[in-house]
Amino acid sequence: MILMKNFFSSTRNKMLTSSVKGAILQGLAPDGGLYVCEDLGNTTIDLQTLLELTYEEMAPIILSHLLPGFTKEELTTAVHHAYHDTFSSKEVTPVVSVGDDSLLELFHGPTSAFKDIALQMLPQLMSLSLKEEPNKKVMILTATSGDTGKAALCGFQDVDRTGILVFYPKDGTSKVQELQMVTQEGKNTGVCALYGNFDDAQSQVKSFFNSLSKKDFTSPDDVIFSSANSINIGRLAPQVVYYFYSYMQLVKQGKISLSDKVSFCVPTGNFGDILAGYYAKLLGLPVHKLVVASNANHILTDFFKTGVYDKRRPFHKTLSPSMDILISSNLERLLYYMSDKDDVYTGKLMKSLNEEGFYEITPELHNKLKELFYAGYSSDEDCQQAIKHVYDTYGYVMDPHTAVGYHVMKQYQQEESEYPCILLSTASPYKFSAQVYEAIEGMIPSNDEFELMELLSKKTGTTIPTNLAVLHNKSILHTDIVTKEQIKDYVLSKTEYLLR
Ligand SMILES: *Cc1c(COP(=O)(O)O)cnc(C)c1O
Repeated sequence: MILMKNFFSSTRNKMLTSSVKGAILQGLAPDGGLYVCEDLGNTTIDLQTLLELTYEEMAPIILSHLLPGFTKEELTTAVHHAYHDTFSSKEVTPVVSVGDDSLLELFHGPTSAFKDIALQMLPQLMSLSLKEEPNKKVMILTATSGDTGKAALCGFQDVDRTGILVFYPKDGTSKVQELQMVTQEGKNTGVCALYGNFDDAQSQVKSFFNSLSKKDFTSPDDVIFSSANSINIGRLAPQVVYYFYSYMQLVKQGKISLSDKVSFCVPTGNFGDILAGYYAKLLGLPVHKLVVASNANHILTDFFKTGVYDKRRPFHKTLSPSMDILISSNLERLLYYMSDKDDVYTGKLMKSLNEEGFYEITPELHNKLKELFYAGYSSDEDCQQAIKHVYDTYGYVMDPHTAVGYHVMKQYQQEESEYPCILLSTASPYKFSAQVYEAIEGMIPSNDEFELMELLSKKTGTTIPTNLAVLHNKSILHTDIVTKEQIKDYVLSKTEYLLR
């Protein structure tokens, strides 16, 4: 094997480098860029060697190609802690057949959303990285559109030398998502509501990091402030594993032969999940198309169609709140790789987005993107119809995010059907019981989320995930809500308290 460079650099400046572990501790590069590995794709993974492996066996192999600063032993132990007995499915991410289609179920983790896969691993990677910084502690600050927050809280709960503070938009998450967060236990966890939508929450957390790096105020020097958002490479890397794993399941199910091409359809918000599919392709997975599925906030659909990324548009609240995003941060990494690792160009685009609210890529780059990506979107109505259609036809219950993906997958398959397509299913329907029940039955018979879970379970003969069923017995432990102006002081005082 060719040895990969043992460091990462910023998408906006190749000279700005960090060790792999350093990048995981920091999250964002100091210039606001995202950490990337220059050599990604120089080595590929021999598919044959993966065929008979379990998820737990496969993950360290894939991860060693993405995180060259960790030893194989470290990765194996981290994977074991992250996935052994923490998921309700032995397979971790099972692939199920729905009609002729394959759905990759990513929601069997402790919080019933796909983000568990990354956020069970990230704290492990951070702990290992902290060993090289014996006098430091990590404070995680994260903005969430709903699912990241709970998954991150759950992953970091009571992890040594770490604290976590999650900000969520007060009226931007589902009731269950909010309850999951505000009932979080653990002496190092904090949860706080913010006024505004997810993009507001994200940009407020980002601006805290900006003032921090500009040293606009003094912060404790034994604390590393970091993020659990998917801009952190330690969050992105674990997601690459299930692309390989699901591919191998299709081989085992006899649906494809080894080295046949498949497409993946991914319900997308911050572009993290689907970017992991692109990384899988760079590592040698035979990916035909990556299908970008959006909701009414279809900024990505427009971008892939026109080559212009324009955030100057209204924000819509939809039935798939975890995808209600107008700034898809991880797209920056794709632009970097697809522009032949042009850091200056990538930096220019991001500057234009920040200062003018849009950017336009070159026709050459746009054509390259179109070769690999197909993009489409679903309205709320499309989403509801997909849930109902799939339930009525196959008896399978999808959550609204997965349903957005399903609708777009069907559009894609009308244009191109020669390659099998795997749909990534990103949340349990029980996180969105009201929306799912309404889609299937045409009405919402109760205002009570837990009664609705019961009704959905009775109606469909499926089981409520335990972590959600027990929620209503839990006490509310977090009630803070702050304004933009208060964030900085709030973070600093909470940091002291949570890392005590
Ligand atoms: C976060 C999330 C998405 C979007 O994933 P990105 O990595 O942000 O593109 C889709 N579905 C669900 C349920 C999510 O929680």
